[in-house]
Amino acid sequence: MTQEELFKKLIAHSKEYGFIFPSSEIYDGLSAVYDYGQLGVELKNNIKRYWWDAMTKLHDNIVGIDAAIFMHPKTWEASGHVGAFNDPLIDNKDSKKRYRADVLIEEWIAKQDEKIEKEVAKAAKRFGEAFDEQQFRTTNGRVLELAAKRDAAHAKMAEVLNANDLAGVKALIEELEIVCPVSGTKNWTDVRQFNLMFSTQMGSTADGASIVYLRPETAQGIFVNFLNVQKTGRMKIPFGIAQIGKAFRNEIVARQFIFRMREFEQMEMQFFVKPGTEMQWFEHWRQFRMNWHRALGFGDDRYRFHDHEKLAHYANAATDVEYEFPFGFKEVEGIHSRTDFDLSQHAKFSGKKIQYFDTESGESYTPYVVETSIGVDRMFLQVFSAAYTEEKLDNGEERVVLRFPAALAPVKAAVLPLVKKDGLPEMARKIVDDLKFDHFVQYDEKDSIGKRYRRQDAIGTPLCITVDHQSTEDGSVTIRHRDSMQQERVAAADLPTIINNLVSLRPLFDKLLK
Ligand code: ATP
Repeated sequence: MTQEELFKKLIAHSKEYGFIFPSSEIYDGLSAVYDYGQLGVELKNNIKRYWWDAMTKLHDNIVGIDAAIFMHPKTWEASGHVGAFNDPLIDNKDSKKRYRADVLIEEWIAKQDEKIEKEVAKAAKRFGEAFDEQQFRTTNGRVLELAAKRDAAHAKMAEVLNANDLAGVKALIEELEIVCPVSGTKNWTDVRQFNLMFSTQMGSTADGASIVYLRPETAQGIFVNFLNVQKTGRMKIPFGIAQIGKAFRNEIVARQFIFRMREFEQMEMQFFVKPGTEMQWFEHWRQFRMNWHRALGFGDDRYRFHDHEKLAHYANAATDVEYEFPFGFKEVEGIHSRTDFDLSQHAKFSGKKIQYFDTESGESYTPYVVETSIGVDRMFLQVFSAAYTEEKLDNGEERVVLRFPAALAPVKAAVLPLVKKDGLPEMARKIVDDLKFDHFVQYDEKDSIGKRYRRQDAIGTPLCITVDHQSTEDGSVTIRHRDSMQQERVAAADLPTIINNLVSLRPLFDKLLK
């Protein structure tokens, strides 16, 4: 099965089992907007809990807030979003398809790399044992020519984008002879800047109404509340403010399911530090965030850092945490050292003094900021694609199993009476009643026990608890583990402890604090 086929199956599975639905599907959906279903919302909430607790509970110097989506329009002037939150777009006149001009060039660059890899693979086959890959890469004429073309395009792209030279971007697309993937032609419009912010109007009459934006990131809600939180919480630098909330971007090209959406959710933490110490904190958070991902146990080699060469105007260091999705390594989280840009801008635009008074040294300064910013939906996709497994069993049957870490699984346990009589359903219901205040558990008595196990595997339930005739005699039940399919007999009275231990976030947190 190719990765593309796997990804399609995963999307179908997420819908079939109530994790994710296209938005307003009865009207044929809305592009790049999705709804989370009955199980999706549970998984999403557990992911958020893992992040929130790792930030606020594990750190006594990080507190949370929940700011509004609408903010004073000046916020977005100060932050630079009104002026510069743009993507360069270009249309193909034949197919009428719209593209991000920088992405077209990046894809062309990636194609040169693919061609190089093909040359290397071909030569490796031809030379067999005697193949010296290093030498081939540094001396082969065709490889060198492709690498030179790639590097030249890369340098030119950086130059024209940095200079905001839109005619230059178009000229580069023409020079590289990039064709539209749909029409196959080079019939391009000019490149235009497109602002990614959604706007709407606030106020009851059109005349008196003012334009407000749907926030494109949650971070600004934290910056404008810096003084409120610092003063009321008596926070001492270094300290952080965390927030989870919706963000909106009118993405030009939205694709890859919930990877790039127009309405999505972010988990952001802004950490305020003394100027001069930001690099040390940047390093700290870079490592902490990578550990947070790796603690989930999907495999350390499926993550990598991608350090930015081209920095945003406000940043003095930036890196992405990338995860290996079925469609390749892609960003799930950004860690940015944002200097004092945001607080200084808000001080300038609001006319308020936004500074921190250090009681020990007696000095006032504008704090520097290190930010960690992760998309909940991208994290959901990471967890879902890492968990999705198709397995052939020893008895020849096949099963789809979602190997969620137990702490994130939507349903923690299913309670299954072996038959629908002899007092087994009553005992099973009693077990459910005993567990339901602490955990999301399901009761299921329909179909054979094998079918019920398969249904629970398909939604990633870590434990199935089966009540049989012996149970009503001695109070014991069988528990069956999702991944190993091993079964064991335990006292029903021990179930709360067994499940508490299994689904606790604590083992993940222990790994973080090591
Ligand atoms: P990209 O380069 O993929 O557009 P970005 O660098 O613009 O992302 P940031 O502005 O750093 O992203 O946002 C922080 C995080 O928010 C990203 O790492 C990602 O997880 C998430 N995110 C950003 N845009 C989207 C989107 N359109 N849909 C879903 N998640 C998103």
